[in-house]
Amino acid sequence: MKKLVNDVSGVVPDMLEGLALTHPEIALLDGQTVAVRADVADFRRSGRVAVISGGGSGHEPAHAGYVGRGMLTAAVCGDVFTSPSTDAVLETILTVAGPAGVLLIVKNYTGDRLNFGLAAELARAEGIPVEVVVVADDVAIEAGEGTAGRRGIAGTVFVHKVAGAAAEAGLPLAEVRREAEAAAAAVGSMGVGLSACTVPAAGRPGFELGPDEVELGLGIHGEAGVRRTTVAPADVVVDTLLDRITADLALAPGDRVALLVNNLGGTPLMELQIVARRAVRRLTEQGFRLERAWTGSFLTALEMAGCSLSVLRVDDRLLDRLDAPVSAPAWPAAHLGRVRPEPLRVPGTPAPGGVPAAGSRPAASAAGGPSPRRVLERVVEEVCAALIAAEPELTMMDQAVGDGDLGISLARGAEAVRREFPGYGEDPAAVLRALSATLRRALGGTSGPLYAVLLLRAAAVLEEEAGGVPGARDWARALAEGARAVSELGGAEVGDRTMLDALVPAADALRRTLDGGAEPCGALSAAVEAARKGTAATAAMTPRRGRSSYLGERAVGRVDPGAEAVAIWLEAVSRTLCALLRGA
Ligand code: ADP
Ligand code: MG
Repeated sequence: MKKLVNDVSGVVPDMLEGLALTHPEIALLDGQTVAVRADVADFRRSGRVAVISGGGSGHEPAHAGYVGRGMLTAAVCGDVFTSPSTDAVLETILTVAGPAGVLLIVKNYTGDRLNFGLAAELARAEGIPVEVVVVADDVAIEAGEGTAGRRGIAGTVFVHKVAGAAAEAGLPLAEVRREAEAAAAAVGSMGVGLSACTVPAAGRPGFELGPDEVELGLGIHGEAGVRRTTVAPADVVVDTLLDRITADLALAPGDRVALLVNNLGGTPLMELQIVARRAVRRLTEQGFRLERAWTGSFLTALEMAGCSLSVLRVDDRLLDRLDAPVSAPAWPAAHLGRVRPEPLRVPGTPAPGGVPAAGSRPAASAAGGPSPRRVLERVVEEVCAALIAAEPELTMMDQAVGDGDLGISLARGAEAVRREFPGYGEDPAAVLRALSATLRRALGGTSGPLYAVLLLRAAAVLEEEAGGVPGARDWARALAEGARAVSELGGAEVGDRTMLDALVPAADALRRTLDGGAEPCGALSAAVEAARKGTAATAAMTPRRGRSSYLGERAVGRVDPGAEAVAIWLEAVSRTLCALLRGA
């Protein structure tokens, strides 16, 4: 078992200490695992009804997180997934009760009903008015003879909120109880479990779910649900849960509802929002008036992956209760449950680029040969094909020393270039500029802005060559200046184990061989060779830039994927140009 705990028998007291230390408005009942409002003495004199809930721990932030003005007066915390003792509940009642009495909110589990029920009985014998409301909101279970009835799950948090607000408003016990009962009757919930969870004291998961299995209606302690199925798209799962809930509540179009999208503990917020997205749409499409919605961790089952949905039928009075201010740490006070049926989309200001620069020079066709634009098109197409073909190799290389996205990014960039090339301008500088804009948009990661700046600077160099078609020397200078721009933007130098270790030697070799009188094709071959040598040399370098720098020495022995990518596309450039120059 891998958990951040100390002694497994101390998880609940340790947790409560952490809560009380960081939330001074919450106090601990001495000698018990009970959270109470720190101002409990003042509260008792306030004449308000106390609202107490609780149950087994492991459902955080329930229940201690809901202790505060406008919600719970106290939360009695049992051991993980274990009802608290009768005496713990009784002591809590005796501690917080004023003359107005106490409402106990109990989730429908046998242990909780018995312990809270007996404590209520004993407290009444002491002359304290006590009422009990049982929440049984889990629509996955059919209530009936032969079962302990429906379980209480996340919908209970709505009941806490409603009862707490009614008590805070100064209502007498009978009224607080009536409102809590009405809320409990008006809420239905259902969950889906994607993984099991481990009770610390047990040390191993309580059950198993296969890698592609989910359990509909899985309980918050891992109790069996209605059925196991294979994982389906989030929208399908949401529809299944919601349809069952709305049918169970016999909701009709036009009914007003509030929604709770609850994390069972181990679900990323990303997935929870995907669930919320569908839930809002589904309820709206079915004609319900969705008045409020909350998404988050409200009543969990340790680290269980999955979520539950709760729907509460509301009216103006109930909405007032939901909207009433609260000081409990786990109720999202700032958000107020506001919801809209469709996301608001504001019009953006598109980044410039993508459209060919106005006034670009017309392409001067070299006598006899293909136009520069045609040459570029062939070269770019071959580069794209080479990068797409290299995707698996680059992915593997980046997985070893980075995060594994380089191959996919470059392939995505290549696809975007293929799509957009027909709209690029005529002259080479305009094409480079447009390429830069495409990559800036499509590439992302670290490579995106680096390639974008390389092409942008190269375009500027070609533009300086007033009039006519750029020659081999202009291209060599464009590559060298482009590499310099990469170094300026990214802060890396040759030797830092980046794409520059391929780019810079290649640019140098190109210039040197051309200066020495080589033909363009020969010079390009020399550049490719230099890029290959530079790339190979990165295997001996300790990374100082980019994501691989976190690996330090551990990256040594492997080639830098960004440098390899340079060698790949440069080789494609050389191969294509040489073929064109030979008239192929
Ligand atoms: P990310 O790490 O953001 O996922 P990519 O996967 O897009 O980046 O690109 C990784 C490559 O980027 C590296 O292999 C390296 O060649 C290159 N790189 C990283 N940082 C720099 C830098 N500062 N300057 C130049 N190239 C860099
Ligand atoms: Mg990467």
